[in-house]
Amino acid sequence: MISTAFDYSRATSVDDALAQLGANKGEGKLIAGGHSLVPLMKLRLSEPKMLIDIARIPELSGIRQNGSAIEIGAATVHHDVATSALLKDACPMLTEAAGSIGDQQVRNRGTLGGSLAHADPAADYPAVMLALDAEVRLKGPKGARTVKAADFFQGLFTVDLAADEIIVSVSFTPVKSAAYAKLHQRASHFAIVGVAAALQVSGGTIQSARVGLTGASSHATRLSTVEQALAGKPLNQQSITDAARDAGAGVDDINADIHASEEYRRAMIAVFTERALSAAMARA
Ligand SMILES: Cc1cc2nc3c(=O)[nH]c(=O)nc-3n(C[C@H](O)[C@H](O)[C@H](O)COP(=O)(O)OP(=O)(O)OC[C@H]3O[C@@H](n4cnc5c(N)ncnc54)[C@H](O)[C@@H]3O)c2cc1C
Repeated sequence: MISTAFDYSRATSVDDALAQLGANKGEGKLIAGGHSLVPLMKLRLSEPKMLIDIARIPELSGIRQNGSAIEIGAATVHHDVATSALLKDACPMLTEAAGSIGDQQVRNRGTLGGSLAHADPAADYPAVMLALDAEVRLKGPKGARTVKAADFFQGLFTVDLAADEIIVSVSFTPVKSAAYAKLHQRASHFAIVGVAAALQVSGGTIQSARVGLTGASSHATRLSTVEQALAGKPLNQQSITDAARDAGAGVDDINADIHASEEYRRAMIAVFTERALSAAMARA
């Protein structure tokens, strides 16, 4: 199927993109990499009259150190995240997650902001953003606002983002002792189960942990029972194995589809939670 007819315009700045969204009165849609939007248009699940291209807006691109935080522009493509020397050193979980997305073509076009806005239940970045406790920075006609990742992902393809707003960047304090592990679909590389785990360790004790899960249910979520089980425990394999054992037990609404049954996904949540935590421990 081909999409319905649309016009195309390239925005030159965030304010220009916002002005164009406003001028099109709900009929315009932002396009970044197009790797999620274009398939929807071809299925006629999305029928924008105007595509506003934000892929080449300079202020939306790049990975920068901002004091103790790292900020990534929303139009930064997955390849640039996967190969960033800054991120490889300071936050290797994020480079390994980005490098596991799709194939080279997808990574060369797809963007961080597009992935977060689209919020596919099997997307990789949402779990990582939860584990990093990242902030999503938005701009709209009423000004700028910041949303915690934990509040951003709300449901199936549903996020805290209005139709007239744009994701400008994400910001987070990098964590070195963190890792991402996923069981992926062989064709697309989307997560059947993906787990991002970040540990805060001091003197051989796990002070706290943040564990994000994707692929398993309607939207990415924190594995709070695992996090609670790890807090205050010695940093060793036994603590991790004990905490991960029932990781899938507390997750409601586990998906079942042609790729995996509910039972299999639940079992894999435990397996991949242990793998992500073990890899995070190795970096601590
Ligand atoms: C074959 C294939 C394999 C894939 N495999 C994976 C995988 O393994 N893991 C994974 O996580 N993803 C995967 N993806 C998805 C890919 O990462 C997409 O690129 C990504 O989800 C969307 O990014 P985009 O820049 O292409 O967004 P687009 O398709 O351009 O836009 C998607 C949606 O986000 C909105 N949007 C885009 N940017 C912004 C912004 N800055 N602010 C507000 N709204 C915005 C658009 O209006 C649209 O509604 C795959 C895609 C394909 C085609």
